[in-house]
Amino acid sequence: MNNKKKPNTPTIPDTITKSNKRTRTQLKPKPKPEPEPEPGLCDIEDLCFKEEQVAEIRECLLKWYDVNKRDLPWRRVEEGDGKAYAVWVSEIMLQQTRVQTVVGYFDKWMAKWPSVHHLALASIEEVNEMWAGLGYYRRARFLLEGAKMVVEEGGQFPRSVNDLRKVKGIGEYTAGAIASIAFNEAVPVVDGNVVRVIARLKTISANPKDKATVNSIWRLAGQLVDRHRPGDFNQALMELGATLCTLANPSCSSCPISAQCNALSESKRSTSTLVTDYPTKVAKVKQRRDFSAISVVEILDGEEGTEYTSDSTSKILLVKRPEEGLLAGLWEFPSVPMDGEANVVTRRRAIDKFLNDSFGLNLTKSSNIVEREEVGEYVHIFTHIRLKMYIELLVLRSQDLHREKGKGVMSYKYVDAKAVATMGLTTGVRKVKCMVFSIQKVTICFIL
Ligand code: SF4
Repeated sequence: MNNKKKPNTPTIPDTITKSNKRTRTQLKPKPKPEPEPEPGLCDIEDLCFKEEQVAEIRECLLKWYDVNKRDLPWRRVEEGDGKAYAVWVSEIMLQQTRVQTVVGYFDKWMAKWPSVHHLALASIEEVNEMWAGLGYYRRARFLLEGAKMVVEEGGQFPRSVNDLRKVKGIGEYTAGAIASIAFNEAVPVVDGNVVRVIARLKTISANPKDKATVNSIWRLAGQLVDRHRPGDFNQALMELGATLCTLANPSCSSCPISAQCNALSESKRSTSTLVTDYPTKVAKVKQRRDFSAISVVEILDGEEGTEYTSDSTSKILLVKRPEEGLLAGLWEFPSVPMDGEANVVTRRRAIDKFLNDSFGLNLTKSSNIVEREEVGEYVHIFTHIRLKMYIELLVLRSQDLHREKGKGVMSYKYVDAKAVATMGLTTGVRKVKCMVFSIQKVTICFIL
């Protein structure tokens, strides 16, 4: 248990500013109406940065950024619509993904779709294929839908945060990034790095996930943002969090704004305080445990009786996931959710029922099963889900699967078995594919 006392540590009230202000104002004998605060102005005294602090932070941070900023491909694009598109794509890719990984994806993406107009003509299949391995596929779908929307509205990017927010998939953070970096609008941007830096500068001990805390940090970031170089300032603050003011090992001795940092001063005054005490650590949400039986269904070409070898020509069955929910609209091997750990009999029963219901294939009577083999288990981790997959290979010589079973049947397709090896598929599906192919001795196999 941590009983350390944190001196001079402001916590953030549930309601900020206006109600507090009114209360104070009502105590005066002749209240004067107060002017509306400028957007971004901070109006709680103990949480505000002083004017001289703001000036100092802006100057020191921008100087540091000019010398130390990382050379990233989206930073080389000139201001304007091209820049807006590059910032948009990179910011969406960077959500939940490391910069080093994003650079390669970004370059390939821009080579294929160099402008929002090119992207608007793409299909969701192409976009998902390009996104394969980055995860959180909803982001790719929103990029495509947003591009179509921008083009339908005339093809020019909205210039302000308010207008950018109307584009599908663009939230407050991305709108702020595009508006400030591409169009020089003096608006703040707050990501996890900025939350951490500001929480340390102001020794904010409130839960950084609480809405009131987040709102206050946006407001403080709005107070700090440089009016002349808002895009550079926002990037500098994020860059500081990503490179120096890191979660576990901040490099305070190299920090350009250490003179303004309350957490650092506190840690010097009291050995019981560390700068890493800020922001407060929040307990992680417990992961849900899901289970799924996967059947990699391979349909052999050739007549009954033909010997099955790894060189046989065949097709692999892929089905499309529902358009809503996890991995919406993506292609995968047939899978059936299980209630928990399941033995092979239970799993096969579930797969058989699925293939019968979806494709009218009665495996219990079918004499067309060439091979049915347990391949293994694989655990795939999503943010809040730990999915355990039981994988089998089911080799059939059957025409039955080629027929659709009435209306509303799920989308599916057959893909040449060798072509599957090079298709853009989700990391989980690729792993399954790899496991299956390794038992078939197919050598084309890659996993991120
Ligand atoms: S002095 Fe240290 S804790 Fe404070 S902002 Fe700089 S790196 Fe972060």
